[in-house]
Amino acid sequence: MVWSIELYIIKKIVMSREFSKVVLSIHAHPDDAEAWNAGALKLLKDKGYKIVIATFTSGDLGGCNMTMEETARVRIEEARKAAAVLDAEYYMLGGIDGFLYDTKEMRLKTISLMRKVRAGIVFTHLSSDYHSDHRTAANIVETAAMVSSLDTVPVKEKALEVTPLFYHTSPFSLSDPLGTMIVPPHFFVDVTSAIETKKKMLEYHVSQIDLMKHMHKMDDFFGFVLEGNRNYGRMVGVEYAEVYWQRLGGGFQKESQVQNDLSEFLINKNKQS
Ligand SMILES: [Zn+2]
Repeated sequence: MVWSIELYIIKKIVMSREFSKVVLSIHAHPDDAEAWNAGALKLLKDKGYKIVIATFTSGDLGGCNMTMEETARVRIEEARKAAAVLDAEYYMLGGIDGFLYDTKEMRLKTISLMRKVRAGIVFTHLSSDYHSDHRTAANIVETAAMVSSLDTVPVKEKALEVTPLFYHTSPFSLSDPLGTMIVPPHFFVDVTSAIETKKKMLEYHVSQIDLMKHMHKMDDFFGFVLEGNRNYGRMVGVEYAEVYWQRLGGGFQKESQVQNDLSEFLINKNKQS
């Protein structure tokens, strides 16, 4: 009897643990956070979270009629302006666009950043994403998050008190690079009320309009991104939605803090069907 009460108390303490209200949205390129994550970031900001946006690269391959150096300058500035919409800090970790490698240096930089900003929540790509830089980013972030609370990691920033909650974002489809359907999103977030903010953030990435025309013959890049959110919205009966998965495997915390704090915007399609 005594034991069961103690276990109950321990369980309550663990269950009610609150993670730092700092969100680190860390992706491969400028505009990734804006395209896949900005709606939820805006809603979390409104709930009192501090938002930090980071990219592994400056997107320096993604320019038209510019050198890589010029493109990097332009895109970093675009990313900074977009982040400022959410009063977010922006960091770029120095990787090369199209050549992002999972190295010891990049893992350490990522751990340093997580610790510096005291991240409680981390968002990044899916490890089955269509873009190789995105997949590499997912691996780096996974490893970094898993060891961010260990004192023995050789970086100067103080270890996090607890491993952050780890979430994945997704681009336009729910399939892997070979077209196979992936595990359905753990939850959809109705971002209809945040869509104007998301548009504003996307629209700072002016350089990508010409790039997408050149690369994919796409005339309306921002419209294309928003159409993706509209498609996800159709799946769950709202105007615009984003999709998310929480990393629930070994090594990660399983609390549903983001889901709880965004409960009024949350649609769990699996439970509805
Ligand atoms: Zn990208």
